[in-house]
Amino acid sequence: MGNMVALVGRPNVGKSTLFNRLTESRNAIVHETSGVTRDRHYGKCVWNGIEFSVIDTGGYIEGSGNIIENETRKQVLLAIEEADVILFLVDVAEGLSALDEELALMLRRSDKRVLLVVNKADNNVRYWDAGVFYQLGLGEPYPVSAVNGSGTGELLDEVVRCFVNAGSADAEDGLPRIAVVGRPNVGKSTLINSLLGEERSIVTPVAGTTRDSVHTLYKKYNHRFYLVDTAGIRKKGKVTGNIEFYSVLRSIRAIESADVCLLMIDAVQGFESQDMSILNIIRKNNKGLVLLVNKWDLVQKDSHTSRNFEQSILEKTAPFRDIPVIFISAINRQRIHKVIETAMEVYSNRMRKIPTSELNEHMQKVIEEYPPPSHRGKYIKIKYVTQLPTHAPSFAFFCNFPEHVTEAYKRFLENKLRAQYNFKGVPIQIFMRKK
Ligand code: GDP
Ligand code: GDP
Repeated sequence: MGNMVALVGRPNVGKSTLFNRLTESRNAIVHETSGVTRDRHYGKCVWNGIEFSVIDTGGYIEGSGNIIENETRKQVLLAIEEADVILFLVDVAEGLSALDEELALMLRRSDKRVLLVVNKADNNVRYWDAGVFYQLGLGEPYPVSAVNGSGTGELLDEVVRCFVNAGSADAEDGLPRIAVVGRPNVGKSTLINSLLGEERSIVTPVAGTTRDSVHTLYKKYNHRFYLVDTAGIRKKGKVTGNIEFYSVLRSIRAIESADVCLLMIDAVQGFESQDMSILNIIRKNNKGLVLLVNKWDLVQKDSHTSRNFEQSILEKTAPFRDIPVIFISAINRQRIHKVIETAMEVYSNRMRKIPTSELNEHMQKVIEEYPPPSHRGKYIKIKYVTQLPTHAPSFAFFCNFPEHVTEAYKRFLENKLRAQYNFKGVPIQIFMRKK
């Protein structure tokens, strides 16, 4: 829970190259949800059985010259606040720069675990040159080559050691954990306060259920759940620089520690790319999702407005369109009850387990009616399907040529599952396996 690694460093040291290497799916156990476009800046890595998030801070920077340097400084500060482990990259081919020294100073002052990664150590000579970076005062350098992968194993060993030492003490009492996420100013705090301010709700802050976060036990309308309130999510303060980076970094921890995420968007501004970035993190973590269109009081409405609005959002989230959308006014407490009801429904959808016999009976009919397209004259036969015992719904279809089943066909199967069973608000994973 909440194992987050941030890659920081000046431009061109190799952050995005290392990011790609760490999050490549070929050695990751985490499979991509079908249809999810690969995020270039946020991904998952599994090493020695331990899963963690990796964020490439540099990926969010646009501009040149001084702008880049200023942004880099700001992002290092945010990474210090939000990440659990920081990989500080420097470039052995270029040597030490003034900006490296400045960033190192910021990192030394923080109490976060920082690993000094000396990149581009592609050969022996450069490997030994890594020693000059000792003077940054960040301890033993880890020479790596992001391009050819050398040294990354030792680095990852140390990264996961940091997590094991930090431990995790999550409340495992089986109550739903709900997080309110979204970019700054959409109304998250207003909603949380509306919820917490409700009369007759029993409010118990449970400190330290997750590092750096407080989960509030909430009891209302016969439901009991935790409201995930991470340090980052309600934090105010000037947002300067890249809003997308800011919102993403501030949301990751909350998303990871929740079962269901209430992704709030601003009705006046509409569904923007920053909202999509957060939605992608929710999908990538296979968390439940409810979309809240807030500030609905500010919108001029006729009888079609909400339906059109909903359709325009779901066009953007496609192929994942089976998402509840609720139009609310957090400030007027409009439809707050419905928000909770829907979150609870999504929670139980995410827990849904379909018995194997029932699943096969239904899906075999579907497959018979519309079998997978053959590949180069080979007939593809799906013999059997079973739901895997994972936290979030995932299904394994056993067949003779799993590698030749198209993405489009997997999506077709997913849609048929959604049409038959209620998985609203829940990402589904479809795997093809060799029998
Ligand atoms: P970023 O700006 O920090 O994200 O850096 P990039 O990942 O975009 O890399 C900048 C340049 O350095 C690219 O041309 C990469 O191919 C190159 N590069 C990255 N890692 C290595 C490495 O390990 N060895 C060498 N020789 N080049 C690298
Ligand atoms: P956060 O940054 O996402 O936590 O956003 P806040 O809860 O601080 O809200 C940002 C601003 O939007 C504040 O001025 C709120 O009063 C306002 N706001 C929040 N919810 C609503 C709403 O439903 N309607 C309107 N008109 N304003 C809202």
